[in-house]
Amino acid sequence: MLAPKPDIALHAYLAMLGGDGQGWLEVRYRTRRGMRTLFYPARGRSRQLAAMIRRVSEHSDVYIGCAIRGERAGDKDAVAGSWVAWAELDTKDAINRLASFTPAPTMLISSGTPGHMHAYWALTERASADAIEDANKRLAYAVGGDPVCFDSTRILRPPATRNHKHTPALPVQLEEACAARRYSLEELIDGLELPPAPVTPGIGGERTHVEDDADLLTISPDVYVPALTGVSEIGRSRKICCPIHKERTPSLHVYPSAEQGWFCFGCRRGGSIFDLASYLWQLDTKGPEFVELKERLRELFR
Ligand SMILES: [Zn+2]
Repeated sequence: MLAPKPDIALHAYLAMLGGDGQGWLEVRYRTRRGMRTLFYPARGRSRQLAAMIRRVSEHSDVYIGCAIRGERAGDKDAVAGSWVAWAELDTKDAINRLASFTPAPTMLISSGTPGHMHAYWALTERASADAIEDANKRLAYAVGGDPVCFDSTRILRPPATRNHKHTPALPVQLEEACAARRYSLEELIDGLELPPAPVTPGIGGERTHVEDDADLLTISPDVYVPALTGVSEIGRSRKICCPIHKERTPSLHVYPSAEQGWFCFGCRRGGSIFDLASYLWQLDTKGPEFVELKERLRELFR
């Protein structure tokens, strides 16, 4: 695969996102007064858009919505669909896995943060917002990408720009591209699993104190993960070193909601507050041990 010159890379990228040219591309960039959002028709003006992006990126972070907007707004209701699926890779393991992953991505872009890559798979037809989120979840799970970056409103850094999180700013670059790689959604997600939903504890087991499960299950992972594992807080990356399988590079993801819970991409364990306590305390999630587990949790979170 070739890594083309910056201008060509940006044009190819915009063409990939723009698909058949219907709808709008959302561009955001940071100004001193906060984020500025602009909408460009996906059709026809990519030369102007590319020039604007490159000019602004000299002094500011620029982002572009991966999906097409049907109207000039950035929320999910405005997403008309997407011509790409994507995954964000921020571990060596994920990047290694992607290297042997089929179907191979259409574009691979380094985000400017060392070791961070964005992979895109171009589609032969525009997929709905829900379908693209489903595909993104499967892709992230398959390659070990960031599991929380699936949302259809996602904005990412276009190539041929600069990442100003770093001083001096670092280039966002197209590393690999093969425009001929376009996939139907069916072909792309064929055989890819969805990440397991958090385990519903106690199913099939003896359930005592059922009426009290609900309050424990509403405790946020941001609260119970630090309390149970002893980490001081959940940082912006939402990842911690897994206390179950012992590791040096964090791969246990802490999701924002209690429904999503937590999931370790290293040992492939995950679930609810009960599952984490169960692994850490070596107590079963059914029978008398489950009763004890819940009592201990109640002590902790009274
Ligand atoms: Zn683990």
